Amino acid sequence: MKITILYDNISNSPKLKADFGFSCLIEAGGRNILFDTGGNGKILLNNMEALGIDPDFIDDIFISHQHFDHIGGLSAVLNLNERAVLHIPPSLRGIKYPNGIIKYDRPAEIYPGIFTTGELDNIEQSMFIDTEKGSVVIIGCCHPGLGKILGTFPDKKISLIVGGLHGSEEYDVMNKAEKICPTHCTKHIDEIEKRLPDKYIQGGAGTVIEF
Ligand SMILES: [Zn+2]
Ligand SMILES: [Zn+2]
Repeated sequence: MKITILYDNISNSPKLKADFGFSCLIEAGGRNILFDTGGNGKILLNNMEALGIDPDFIDDIFISHQHFDHIGGLSAVLNLNERAVLHIPPSLRGIKYPNGIIKYDRPAEIYPGIFTTGELDNIEQSMFIDTEKGSVVIIGCCHPGLGKILGTFPDKKISLIVGGLHGSEEYDVMNKAEKICPTHCTKHIDEIEKRLPDKYIQGGAGTVIEF
């Protein structure tokens, strides 16, 4: 599987704009999944173009939660792609879309080996993808807390965590993962890198992680 960060608070390339928000493209299990859409549609489309990703390439759009920095680019992508299936938390309301919206209020297997926690704490869902090395967890902002998110699937071995971890100081929980790419809103990035130097992967728009 492959994760490409499209939208992030920092950027790794002069071609990619940095902006507060998060979005990544996940290529796994034969699906091309857009996870969140950043805060601004123009910036998202700019970064996708710079990375050679056509909006029509996307099969599924998974929205973690309704905060503006995760849904701001949604309508811009849907204007260029009318076939993607939308996977959203029930608290995201007011979306009109004819091609299929699936809401998750509990854990579910979206496609073989690809799972959602379902909406936790009435705010956010996260994605788990099973690989041969363990599960890859993709998180938008981590509002429910990392322990709670990982606790949704207690039997899964965690190989990689990618995404926004907000103010999480759950270093013991982070330590369960083999690798961690804390980015976007993660407040304690420096501390995570200091405590878990062998696990740390730097994020930012343009980061590609193959697993
Ligand atoms: Zn948020
Ligand atoms: Zn956020």
